[in-house]
Amino acid sequence: MNKMKRRVMQTNFGRTIKRFLILTVCAVVLSGGISAFLLRTQIGEIASYVWQEEVRDEWQEGTLESDGLHGEDFWREEERTDLAKVITRPSAAAIAAACVTGVILLLAGAVYWLLVAAWLYQAAVLAKMHGMVWFLLGLCGNLAAVAVFLLLRSLIWKKCAECGSYQPVKAAYCAACGAGLTVKCPECGIVCEKDARYCRNCGKSLSEE
Ligand SMILES: [Zn+2]
Ligand SMILES: [Zn+2]
Repeated sequence: MNKMKRRVMQTNFGRTIKRFLILTVCAVVLSGGISAFLLRTQIGEIASYVWQEEVRDEWQEGTLESDGLHGEDFWREEERTDLAKVITRPSAAAIAAACVTGVILLLAGAVYWLLVAAWLYQAAVLAKMHGMVWFLLGLCGNLAAVAVFLLLRSLIWKKCAECGSYQPVKAAYCAACGAGLTVKCPECGIVCEKDARYCRNCGKSLSEE
């Protein structure tokens, strides 16, 4: 367990997620393409079935005059057929390819879900919050948990621009590196955030010219 935690803390999530996305897209395009190729007969059958049903509906609603291919009687008399009966049975290879694509999609979804929870764990530990609690919240709520986490973190902590550590919102100096986290307005003396460009009290520019 501790080994897992250490690994999560050492993970560069930006790079991991990029690799994961590239791998997933390649795998889905490849196996999805193979499935579509092996199922091309069935896809064609479904497309022509849907087209036929649409034309029939239009005939029955009286919105279609003539399709130019079949006479009026053809559509009137033709019984509605069951989709299952017009479709050719897919080959074993086609079924296998479709299953592999489904498994890849499921796996990718699971890995994505875990990656979000693991990122939450790392971000929570870095922000001196409960890593395991946020990991579990991430497993339950995924992106909703991320949104709540980011909001809470911004209420409690601010990031030191010099060393990147999280310091209490009201701190004047970074406890990790000693850098100033606030600036005093030279005009009115109010304390402003270090990255503020203008004083929020009097509007004076805080960036040195
Ligand atoms: Zn610092
Ligand atoms: Zn001011």
